[in-house]
Amino acid sequence: MKNLRAFLLAGFAGLAAMAFFAARSDAKPETVTKIADGVWFREGGQNGHCNNTIIEMKDYLIVVDANFPSGARLAMADAKKVSAKPVKYVFDTHHHGDHAYGNAVWTEAGATTLAYKGVAEEMKRREPARWQATAKTRKDVAELNRPTAEPPKQTFDKKMFVLADNTRRVEFHFFGWAHTRGDGFVYLPKEQVICTGDAVVNGAFNYLEDANVANWPNVIRAAQKLKVGTVLPGHGEPGGKEVLAGQSLYLTELHKAVKAGIAQGKKLDDMKASLQLPESVKKWVGGSLSAHVQATYEEISQGKPYGEITGGK
Ligand SMILES: [Zn+2]
Repeated sequence: MKNLRAFLLAGFAGLAAMAFFAARSDAKPETVTKIADGVWFREGGQNGHCNNTIIEMKDYLIVVDANFPSGARLAMADAKKVSAKPVKYVFDTHHHGDHAYGNAVWTEAGATTLAYKGVAEEMKRREPARWQATAKTRKDVAELNRPTAEPPKQTFDKKMFVLADNTRRVEFHFFGWAHTRGDGFVYLPKEQVICTGDAVVNGAFNYLEDANVANWPNVIRAAQKLKVGTVLPGHGEPGGKEVLAGQSLYLTELHKAVKAGIAQGKKLDDMKASLQLPESVKKWVGGSLSAHVQATYEEISQGKPYGEITGGK
């Protein structure tokens, strides 16, 4: 009996290990995968790196997200491996350090950093405080010897900006305030590929400090109106349009549950400790849930976007 129990336990441990590896098997940190002809996805995941996408045009390359400086150098080396063409544009999907602090690395190499104007505005609100704090913990940021983040060199203020030649059309969209006030999406209509930055992440990677939780699903709904086959998120593995739906549902369920808790007179600390979200959004629930509950609670009780509470108008 004792042996049978040991056998069963070993069996369960084995199954648990297999499930763990099955769930992890699609993750390819710090490697490049071809998504379509002339489109490559570089998965981050180590050293705080975000994901990057490399898009080949007739005469040049576009890179989505500048990454941290160390990630910028790795993405630059990988771009050289997949194509001899120069990187002409680097698009910042938003102002966060893991997406934009590598800007100076790219511009020094001759690229133009590009973003929706909201990215530059967010940098004005948040910097140099975040840059200086990050330089204390990250060598790659400190070694750039800059007083603050380098803003994008070129910005657009319309809802859409387009780069196109006779090989490809690349659309840069602004759909509103979700993860930050500057969130930009990159859409390839022919290939039906969308790069989302952190407006859509594939897993428990959400960060709400600069967010508008209530409006976030509306932004994703606008992206869902495009014909999408492949979603290349800011963090996590690539996927199909179910990634858009899952991320949207997480924010919707989070907002709904916190709002219901407030209506029932629940205390913030109790909700932070025990908020229940449905099984359907489990993939997006992680160690930051209590911070997400707090952000949503403040947003609802103060009647303004959480990013406005933390960062001003
Ligand atoms: Zn972010």
